[in-house]
Amino acid sequence: MSDALIELDKVSHYYGARRKQFLAVQDVRLKIHEGEFVALLGPSGCGKSTLLRIVAGLTAPSEGRVLYRGRPLRGINPHATIVFQTFALFPWLTVLENVEVVLRARHVPEKLARMRALDLLDKVGLDGFETAYPRELSGGMRQKAGFARAMAVSPELLCLDEPFSALDVLSAEALRTELIGLWTGGGMPTKAILMVTHNIEEAVYMADRIVIMDKDPGRVITGFAVDLRRPRFRKGTAFLEIVDRVYTTMAGQTQPEHIELGAAPGGEGRLRLLPEVHINDIEGLMEYLVQAPGPHMDIYRLADEFKLDSDHMLLLTEAAELLGFATIAQGDITLTQLGETFAEAGVAARKAIFALRLRRLPLVRWLLDKLREAERQQTHWSDITAELEREILAEEIERQMQIAVDWGRYAELLAYDDAKEMLYLEPAGAPAG
Ligand code: ADP
Ligand code: MG
Repeated sequence: MSDALIELDKVSHYYGARRKQFLAVQDVRLKIHEGEFVALLGPSGCGKSTLLRIVAGLTAPSEGRVLYRGRPLRGINPHATIVFQTFALFPWLTVLENVEVVLRARHVPEKLARMRALDLLDKVGLDGFETAYPRELSGGMRQKAGFARAMAVSPELLCLDEPFSALDVLSAEALRTELIGLWTGGGMPTKAILMVTHNIEEAVYMADRIVIMDKDPGRVITGFAVDLRRPRFRKGTAFLEIVDRVYTTMAGQTQPEHIELGAAPGGEGRLRLLPEVHINDIEGLMEYLVQAPGPHMDIYRLADEFKLDSDHMLLLTEAAELLGFATIAQGDITLTQLGETFAEAGVAARKAIFALRLRRLPLVRWLLDKLREAERQQTHWSDITAELEREILAEEIERQMQIAVDWGRYAELLAYDDAKEMLYLEPAGAPAG
């Protein structure tokens, strides 16, 4: 017997063909009970959408069991509906028709379908826009129509995949409040909500419980209840304490003593992926930290100050750590001696420091070695990416190479000709000493 609405039992999922299998989520156990609003929180690529698809029965897990009210789930989960980041409305139907069509597909009689659709549109705050077409609506209003449509089928389990992330700040906040109002006010037939997000504040604002995931491989690392009364205030002390705790959990994965640089392609062990961050942002962060009043800076405050979302902020702090410019512990970032020197240096010295650190990163070192061994110390982009196919998932290769080349160019270790797609070794990229 299971008292949960849905239960994932040791669920793992692989993508890709046999020899290039990629473990997207590993050994996930998760239970969601009636009455719960659970947020699944983690960085991009940690497998949140994959888990949501598994819960909705759109993807069958490679390993493990999915139980719905204690029974094994086979095929599409008829009790769950997913709302995606941008909801696909039929452009040729009005808002009202877009909701009605779902009800009619479920054989709800015409008159009743109209009444229910009107009621739902009223609930999500689209009263007066029934006859508008999707193109006439703002992003926020379209997403409201999307919610109305998802709720038209009265799902027991409402699954939300970053439903607010494509909206502007004000619309997102309005819609969050609206959804919470519906949920707590009993205006929904829904028994539980599972929301995927990479936004820490959003999770703390909305959920009763937060489940935190991490990547490489995607897995659940911890979870805890959010014991805050509603309505919640983002600037409240209790609220900020929980946000801080989540940041601590998510950013505090590595110890300053042994920053894992990973292995080079073809070497033993796992290749560590480079965080997708621009040099300008790293420079900005260093300049900010060097002027900060104290040695430690709370990463959450920093994100707030920089107006960056948590996902981006974590990538940025990861990059700073990887480069040896800062250390991260307990949700705080601390500038190292090197980071301080970098921040206070002029352009040329910055580039030299950066080059020094870049050469330590296995992926960059490997790239430079390839160039050095190549004829005339140059090689075509595609030759390099081809070699990485054994190591990195196809869609990640281009991005990794772009970051490596972007950073390498800044450090003047290599040059790149966009038109010819050729990479060249620069004098500074030759072995030091
Ligand atoms: P999230 O939603 O947390 O960003 P996803 O569940 O979308 O993560 O993806 C998890 C990992 O699986 C990522 O590395 C992603 O690139 C990979 N992935 C997702 N879908 C596929 C797919 N259809 N084929 C291959 N890899 C995939
Ligand atoms: Mg996703």
